[in-house]
Amino acid sequence: YERKKIVVLGAGYAGLATVVRLQKELGFQDADITLINKNEYHYEATWLHETAAGSINWEDGVYPIAKAVDNMKTKFIVAEVTKINKDAQTVETTQGEFEFDYLVVALGFESETFGITGMEEYAQAMTNPTNALEARQSIEANFKNYLTSGDENDLSIVVGGAGFTGIEYLGELVETLPELCAQLGIDYNKVKITCVEAMPSMLPMFPKELVDYAQKFLEDRGVTFMLGTAITAANDKGFMVKVDEKEQQLYANNRIWTAGVRGSRLMEESFDGVKRGRIVVNSDLSVDGYDNIFVIGDVAAVMNGEGPDARPYPTTAQIAMQLGDHLARNIKRKLNGDKLEPFVFDDKGTVCSLGSKDGIGMVFGKPIKGKSAAIMKKVIDTRAVFILGGPILAYSKGKLL
Ligand code: NAD
Repeated sequence: YERKKIVVLGAGYAGLATVVRLQKELGFQDADITLINKNEYHYEATWLHETAAGSINWEDGVYPIAKAVDNMKTKFIVAEVTKINKDAQTVETTQGEFEFDYLVVALGFESETFGITGMEEYAQAMTNPTNALEARQSIEANFKNYLTSGDENDLSIVVGGAGFTGIEYLGELVETLPELCAQLGIDYNKVKITCVEAMPSMLPMFPKELVDYAQKFLEDRGVTFMLGTAITAANDKGFMVKVDEKEQQLYANNRIWTAGVRGSRLMEESFDGVKRGRIVVNSDLSVDGYDNIFVIGDVAAVMNGEGPDARPYPTTAQIAMQLGDHLARNIKRKLNGDKLEPFVFDDKGTVCSLGSKDGIGMVFGKPIKGKSAAIMKKVIDTRAVFILGGPILAYSKGKLL
């Protein structure tokens, strides 16, 4: 009798949820689990906008993966995955090669600039704790610089994209920047925050009433929206934007890009038919042609049905954790020789925070806004830590106390 080798790539919401559930479902003798992740810590990807705005510290949004790992069942390796050999059933990493019987690919997301000129060089993304912290530090440095330069562009911030990330980031900024200004002795009224969004309206998944509420909340606190305006380039002065077919320069020394994400670039190198780092998976979360390779989280396009009208689910932490949980149960079924179950998403709703005290959301199909949305968001954030990290971490890292 040989223990099957299960290798999990990535310890984000999807990968860690898989391991945590596998540890609960499988006995020590059932399988040999290996979790491989680039960093020794798991980060709360849904809190990055808070790090980026300085509402929380870098270390508040991360915890050691070791805390979620049961050493009896799982070997945790800190390494970067460099290659997946599907047929040879091996994974190459910076810490050597690993064999697998079952592979779970959960490599997560990165920034996508769509090839926009200068965007990578001149704008800051917030796709991991490192670049989120850099975003915060560069704003602080520019605001400090203003004290000697008097250059108003040092106090000008442009945010590209009014998706969830952009809006949640703006919500934090209007809370933290007045504090930063007070510390530095800068008049907050001199700060200019502009959000540029290509679509004529933002957050299309929410009813208009909620979107209007969020927009007014941010405008009342100094944000200017340029809707229906595409960013066409970034440079050392700011963003180039297209207004009425004419290119125009927006001036800002603080340039933030929250207008695009994609799955890991390793996906294109490893699989066929990958678009923006995402591969369409079967309903049991395996990839076509390989019943022992599963892809979940932001690198997977999980369809909401079958046929030509089927659409991929959005890539969110909620769905990633459900995917990991479901997949672990399917792997157990597989080890037992049972039939795999199709994944069904249980949508509990979505909340878009507006700083720590406000927000909008649709929860169990009902619209919420204001303080109740803010509280719901803290429940969601704490629940994620609880599910993956357990009660002790939920107590120390959670947001309910
Ligand atoms: P997104 O892709 O959802 O939004 C990007 C926005 O940028 C879009 O509105 C798009 O129209 C705009 N955009 C793109 N190119 C542009 C350009 N050149 N000029 C101007 N605007 C441009 O990205 P996101 O907000 O980072 O979200 C990524 C995923 O994560 C989504 O699935 C989202 O649902 C999820 N998410 C959810 C939450 C939450 O539930 N609270 C929070 C953050 C992210």
